[in-house]
Amino acid sequence: MINKRNNTHIKILIERVWSPFVFALFLLLSPLAFAQSTEPNGSLKPLNYENTQTLINNIRANKLDYLLNANKLVHAFKNSEEQNWSELHLQAAALYAELLFRQEEFEALNIHLTKYLNNQQLIKQKDLHLLFLEAQLKYLSQSEKLTQAKELATRLENQIPQLLAKEKIITLRALAYYYTDTDALRKTLSAALTGLELSIKNNDIASQGYFYRKIADAYNYLNDNKKHNDKAIYYAKKAVTTFEKTNDGLFTAKAHWSLGNVFLEISDTKNALVYLNKALQYFKKVNMKKGLAFAQYSIANIQYQQANYTTALTLVKENIELARSANIHDMHLASLILLADIYIKQNRLDDANTVNNDVYSNMDKFSRSIYKAQFLAKRYELKRKLNLTEDAFEAIENKLIYTIKHYEATSESNIKTLQIKFEVKEKEDKILQLEYEKDINKLRATEEHQQKIIWRLSASIAFIIVIVTLFLFYRQALQRKKYRSIAFTDFLTNSLNRRGIMKQAKLILNRQKATIAIIDLDYFKQINDKFGHDIGDLVLIKFAQAAKDALTNADLFGRYGGEEWLFVLNTTDENIIKKLFEKLNFKLAEYCNDIQALPKNEVVTFSAGVAISNNKNNSLDELIKLADLKLYKAKQNGRNQIVID
Ligand code: GH3
Ligand code: MG
Ligand code: MG
Repeated sequence: MINKRNNTHIKILIERVWSPFVFALFLLLSPLAFAQSTEPNGSLKPLNYENTQTLINNIRANKLDYLLNANKLVHAFKNSEEQNWSELHLQAAALYAELLFRQEEFEALNIHLTKYLNNQQLIKQKDLHLLFLEAQLKYLSQSEKLTQAKELATRLENQIPQLLAKEKIITLRALAYYYTDTDALRKTLSAALTGLELSIKNNDIASQGYFYRKIADAYNYLNDNKKHNDKAIYYAKKAVTTFEKTNDGLFTAKAHWSLGNVFLEISDTKNALVYLNKALQYFKKVNMKKGLAFAQYSIANIQYQQANYTTALTLVKENIELARSANIHDMHLASLILLADIYIKQNRLDDANTVNNDVYSNMDKFSRSIYKAQFLAKRYELKRKLNLTEDAFEAIENKLIYTIKHYEATSESNIKTLQIKFEVKEKEDKILQLEYEKDINKLRATEEHQQKIIWRLSASIAFIIVIVTLFLFYRQALQRKKYRSIAFTDFLTNSLNRRGIMKQAKLILNRQKATIAIIDLDYFKQINDKFGHDIGDLVLIKFAQAAKDALTNADLFGRYGGEEWLFVLNTTDENIIKKLFEKLNFKLAEYCNDIQALPKNEVVTFSAGVAISNNKNNSLDELIKLADLKLYKAKQNGRNQIVID
């Protein structure tokens, strides 16, 4: 037995090892890929240079899922080689490496990498070359080629300072994978946080998601305090929301899976189930058997935790088959261990023992010492229950060996750990700051956008108001003009009325000399009396027509009242004036002749008093008074005549 009280590190480790969920988490850290494309092979479009480039760009930016587009990618990879599009072919080859890794075609990947890694053109293309090195490091870690992996990781670590930001991101992705795989979790944190900061600055969404998940997993595994649990949840949620922005089905599934496991770790089974079921859906979508097995294992585990042993048993048996047929050894063994646990709860100790022995005989298939240690701890408990003391003793002995092995692999010197801890804290603060700034910038951009809309709207409204106002002004002006003309017009004769002619006369007299004449129809009352008021009106209309025709454009006239008229003549020449009145006289007779009701012998005449403005008499009132006098004279003299000065 280990003396737990005397060795704190071992104690923490053992507690951790006992946690059933840690095991599941470790499984997660290995690549979850065993998928075939679900897209039918048949419908491949012929690829020209442009759509090959588009396809590559979209897969690389995770706008298209690797696994769902596997056939297209393979086609692009082969076609670009046949067509000698060397630059494009290298890009396709880099993505093809990632595809092979996701499909866990490790042997094919190894051959592929060997073929391309010494390509001289590739070495010149730093970022593509780094994608190949990333695939290589993941391949080496996965295949337990640890010396080569370490050598490559060190080479990558050393060249980081000389790299551009986007090249650093690729390198840090590779390193984060490698550190996690070798249990150097503090280093994972450090690399992933640096990578996260760079990918936020570079707007590289998929890499952000990748780093968020690596950080979450690292905190989840380092779950030695509550703070780490909170952080694991925080970063795992970030990973989920970030990957949901991409079309990377596999990594979206993994992110959900990670979050589900973090919740499992803190025994929040309700949330754990939500996210694990979501993970299950995503794994199904990309047809990823391995992921399915992992998610189903966790769900079975929850059922076991909740004492739903029958459900757990069904799920775990299904999962053993799934994992075995897909050659997922760790998962296969983990499911067997869970099966034994269920049997123990159901008091079927002999069945549990059989399963346990089965796992024991396959122990070398466990990929990590911690899995072996965890299993051996369980074996010890079971063998003790069954009073198989020798087996129990052997199990606990072996467990100690593997625990120490794991401890040696994971522990770092205290000073180094402290230093990295400090670095991690600093980086997290920086990232919080960056995220905050991004949020603020986003808010600011939205605000500016809204303000622009408000401005445009206001401008449009102002424009409409101006147009409407101008229209209203215009209409009002028209109406005013109309009203004014109404105010100055005599309706019966459609000539100026008294107010109109007086106003015009004043204006004219202010400017120039002119002649004012007052004309009164003779015996008009008799016309009314003899032929009726209507005929009288008609005579007035005819008089106005005659005046319009007789006068020049420069002369004006208006109805002064009843059958009296005021003329403003643009002349002071008596002869012209006389001629003008003669013409009027003639026209009036002519037009009145048209009135059927008037007998031919009924001649309508008028009398006129004329006042010509001179230097002494210039005001309208004086001239009217004078003209009135002359008119009186004309009437006195027998009518049908004009009297001038
Ligand atoms: P005199 O030659 O002395 O001017 O004789 P007169 O009949 O014209 O006399 P007076 O000027 O007194 O009569 C004017 C008549 O004009 C009176 C009125 O009935 C008539 N009158 C005034 N305004 C109108 C009108 O708008 N239409 C008609 N049909 N008659 C009008
Ligand atoms: Mg009169
Ligand atoms: Mg009269």
